[in-house]
Amino acid sequence: MDIDTPNKPNLDEFDDIKFDTDDMFVDSTVPTAIPNNIYMDDAQIGPTEYYDRLKLRKYYQELFPFDILVDWLTFNYDPEKESINDYYSKREFSTRYVVKSKPFVIRNKSFPTVDEEIKSNDLKEFVLGTVDEHTFTAKVPEKLDIGPVYSREPIKMNQYQDYRPVERELVFDIDIDDYNDIRVCCDGTSLCKKCWQFLSISAKFLELYLKECYNFQHILYVFSGRRGLHVWVSDRGALTLSKDLRQKIISYAKPGFEANQTPILQRAFDEIFLPSFENYIVEDQELFTMESQIKKLLDLLPGEIKLNKKSGKKYETINVRVLVEDDLKENPNQAPLDKWKKIKNLLLENDIKEYLYRIVFHYTFPRLDEQVSIGLNHLLKSPFCIHPSTQKLCIPLDIDLIDYYDPNDIPTLPKLLSELDQKGSTNPSPSKMDTDQKKSRKSKSSKQAPPTNFNYYKSFFKNYVNNIKLSKSNPNPLDF
Ligand SMILES: [Zn+2]
Repeated sequence: MDIDTPNKPNLDEFDDIKFDTDDMFVDSTVPTAIPNNIYMDDAQIGPTEYYDRLKLRKYYQELFPFDILVDWLTFNYDPEKESINDYYSKREFSTRYVVKSKPFVIRNKSFPTVDEEIKSNDLKEFVLGTVDEHTFTAKVPEKLDIGPVYSREPIKMNQYQDYRPVERELVFDIDIDDYNDIRVCCDGTSLCKKCWQFLSISAKFLELYLKECYNFQHILYVFSGRRGLHVWVSDRGALTLSKDLRQKIISYAKPGFEANQTPILQRAFDEIFLPSFENYIVEDQELFTMESQIKKLLDLLPGEIKLNKKSGKKYETINVRVLVEDDLKENPNQAPLDKWKKIKNLLLENDIKEYLYRIVFHYTFPRLDEQVSIGLNHLLKSPFCIHPSTQKLCIPLDIDLIDYYDPNDIPTLPKLLSELDQKGSTNPSPSKMDTDQKKSRKSKSSKQAPPTNFNYYKSFFKNYVNNIKLSKSNPNPLDF
């Protein structure tokens, strides 16, 4: 770090700062408590750890797509207002180190230029850190985080009174452990193909909601490397949203306990939530085969309820929960989906659709970490980082194939390095991979999991960034 601190930091001071390895919401009071310098003699480690850091360094040195990342983060600059370098120089980057088992965060780092001729490697050098092979000393960051664009260069933050975040992608963070009360396939931070569906449903909803209601078009979905999904909306209109508007975007999406939902929620219910609930959640999460899950579902149903119109009477009272409970006891061998469809029909026939919404939304509606979306000065892990705990790559995801990813197949650092060592020998080129996949999809007329090699993800990201750059230069192709 460029800014020297006068005294060597005392590592013990930082015990009470909570660090999350998936992503990081940093309270505005926290950064000042974090030292900006790490001394090399604190970074001396044993040989095993040292060689692990070298592996990470090799990944960042040879594979990490710095050029595409910088293109993505700067495509929105306004040439009438400032140069691309001025814009880029106000973007905050951050890294996290672990020194003597304690985490250190370096915030408020920024770089002056994107010009490769002059100094392309500033960001890369920052991420590579430094090593000394004679002393087994490695000051190599665990990951790279991306912050907002500020009014001034973050490295000069102390020189200005008006230093504040002015642009931030609208971001969403969904962590699978927020679904622990409804999932049974895994617990804690683990994630399998079954509970991946909770993230997939969330992504599909956000895709519909953000495009239909706000006309946002530049949305990137990224697997966080362990337990979650990050969504980055980079449209110019999204970057400059105030905290209030970010809060409103989240609030407006939320379903109420009503028989009539907003048009967008009704559409999402019909196209995404209900089909996903029936195709995946009912069986994968054992809603009708595990006692504790049955109880939770029954708790969402009404007990005694007065119906407005029934058999010519003015009203009739039924106990929906008891009716369902009795039916489940009488038909224990019925298929789970049939059991669910009987409940659905009961709710529809008796005109109490609000309970149908209540159940389906409870199991499918995105559980967002709202503070990450609302705040402007938090950090979010960069796409293509290696997750420090799982060693998995934070891959960009194809929304059209979102159902088909398997978190167990996400490439890990060892796999990436082995691919690198056997360059070209085991993996088809991305273009061949794309063609093969398209052919296969066409012939089976069904989608399948995307390939799992690095070049595929890199080429996916490059295409995404090229497309958004193209749409910026030609915002409305129909005018031509
Ligand atoms: Zn699972």
